[in-house]
Amino acid sequence: MMKQKSNFFCKVAPLFLVLAVAIALLFVRPQPANEVIPAAEIPAPPKYQPPPEDVAIRLPILVYHHIGHAETWRDSAYKSLFIEPEWLDEQLKYLKENGFESVSFKAVSDFFESGKPLPKRPVLITFDDGNGNNYTNALPILRKYGFTATFFIVTNYTGNGSFMNEEQVHELVAEGHEIGNHSVSHQKMTALSDEALAREATRSKEILEELYGIEVTAFAYPFGKYDERVMETVRAAGHKTGRSFSGKDAPTITRGNLLNMPVVSIWGNLPMKTWDKYLFPPTPAPHTPQSPY
Ligand SMILES: [Zn+2]
Repeated sequence: MMKQKSNFFCKVAPLFLVLAVAIALLFVRPQPANEVIPAAEIPAPPKYQPPPEDVAIRLPILVYHHIGHAETWRDSAYKSLFIEPEWLDEQLKYLKENGFESVSFKAVSDFFESGKPLPKRPVLITFDDGNGNNYTNALPILRKYGFTATFFIVTNYTGNGSFMNEEQVHELVAEGHEIGNHSVSHQKMTALSDEALAREATRSKEILEELYGIEVTAFAYPFGKYDERVMETVRAAGHKTGRSFSGKDAPTITRGNLLNMPVVSIWGNLPMKTWDKYLFPPTPAPHTPQSPY
């Protein structure tokens, strides 16, 4: 009897095995490449409405240069460009506690183009020139408060002396920061020939895009020097925004000033009280439609 049972299993077991393999093969059958997904299953892209022509937004744009202590003789010549790390920490903490959310220049141009919403209280945090202390001193503080910033790089400076190197810029990109164009060699663009001007705006954009695999649409004018010719060259090179260097009033951004956006330059250790009037102006921006802008 036992022997019969054993024979039975010997005959049936392979059949089961073949069946199991056949079923398994059904499941691992390779899917045809480029399978066509029925249109109904493709999620519809979000639909935004471009904002009205005369829309204006309140958007503080903070401009920093060096984050550190002015230590050397050369540093002290540029002392007003230095912000102590402790002070940057205070400022970013203040922004965080008051509900500000950092945005990129790309997000701002997207808003004006397509209506893609911006946060209720946006802020643009920018660092000029690509100084090495932006990486060593500012980045940890940005991380601490979960802010992203825009770093305006001068391509000829990268990797030289006290400036950030390519690896460090790569790291900024990987952490979601925006890289902006601050020209090839940081000259007063208003004084350049048409040819030199075009090169300063275009070549640096190409280099940044190639090196870091990104799209660069934000430009910052070296020394804040620009005029109609400079703005037009920067626009023609493919930039959507141009950041100036100064601005006395609470910054109001419109379609009309995307290429000369007013800013709040953080010169030295500006008292928070002064800062406050830029961040919380007493009057709303003119022509501001109802929230959420
Ligand atoms: Zn600069």
